[in-house]
Amino acid sequence: MRVLVVGGAGYIGSHMVKMLLANDHQVITLDNLSSGHRDAVLGGTFVEGDLADVAFLNKVFTEHQPEAVMHFASFIQVGESVRKPDIYYRNNVTNTLNLLDTMLKFEVRKFIFSSTAAVFGEPDYVPIDEAHPNRPLNPYGRSKWMIEQVLADYDKAFGFKSVCLRYFNAAGADPEGQLGERHDPETHLIPLILQAASGRREHIQVFGRDYDTPDGTCIRDYIHIVDLCAAHLAALTYLKNGGDSDRFNLGNGAGFSVQAVIDAVQQISGKHVQVIDGPRREGDPARLVADATRARHILGWAPVFTDLETIVAHAWQWEQKQVGH
Ligand code: UDP
Repeated sequence: MRVLVVGGAGYIGSHMVKMLLANDHQVITLDNLSSGHRDAVLGGTFVEGDLADVAFLNKVFTEHQPEAVMHFASFIQVGESVRKPDIYYRNNVTNTLNLLDTMLKFEVRKFIFSSTAAVFGEPDYVPIDEAHPNRPLNPYGRSKWMIEQVLADYDKAFGFKSVCLRYFNAAGADPEGQLGERHDPETHLIPLILQAASGRREHIQVFGRDYDTPDGTCIRDYIHIVDLCAAHLAALTYLKNGGDSDRFNLGNGAGFSVQAVIDAVQQISGKHVQVIDGPRREGDPARLVADATRARHILGWAPVFTDLETIVAHAWQWEQKQVGH
């Protein structure tokens, strides 16, 4: 298919572009390079521009005639979203509406949306399935949940078919070492610990050791970036085959504590990581683990890189390459 990948120069998007190309799809990457990297787009066509620019979007759709769209371009920092809700709603909601309405205008009705576990808020139970109530706790989570609701309404009114994929903790890197995580500032646990291991950072701070978990640190569901992208590929096939709009939680179903991740990094890298104990970070639930049964059944998806060591090893390979630069 001809697939427009919006935000294809970012961490997840760039791995997706690589996988789409490897599976013989035609790829058009659209990115404003606000946080993405041009050199992370390994092939296909690249167009630089912003979703706020409707005339630009019209031009892209006229010139490239995509048959499906994957949308990765959004602001992703929970804390920042609390301080600057205006830019989060503008980028994650208004700009996404521009994209959706351009799709409608050009009669492109297949859409794969990067959503998040943050659409659930504090969980009533774990693992979290799709029936879990949606009570997002911050503007970031609310912006994603708003678009999910818009998509349900667009399906009813316009027959617009979408798959919303709620990522738990995207992690790891391209096993071939070409791509990885390059956020600035970096806020995610695994790259931060790896930077502490490689010497790019002095220490790592653990946000709370008094949670109701076996070692007192928070438990998260880390899903390998390649598995995450494989779910998008499966969603694309699903929509191509006439699948109905749906939402899927994506994780590997196993939770790992912050301390377990630190231990894994030390073991894989052979380096000592200096750890400082800090207070809890606001809005962090003790455990977030996905029940991805639905994605397995309906999309025929199954994660491959489920052990923490492999996830960390691939990310460490990438981190070493960054240090070498
Ligand atoms: N975390 C931490 N120190 C850090 C960054 C993160 O202890 O410097 C913890 C955080 O409290 C959470 C887990 O690591 O329990 C994963 O956080 P991250 O920001 O990577 O992802 P999130 O779960 O917020 O999407």
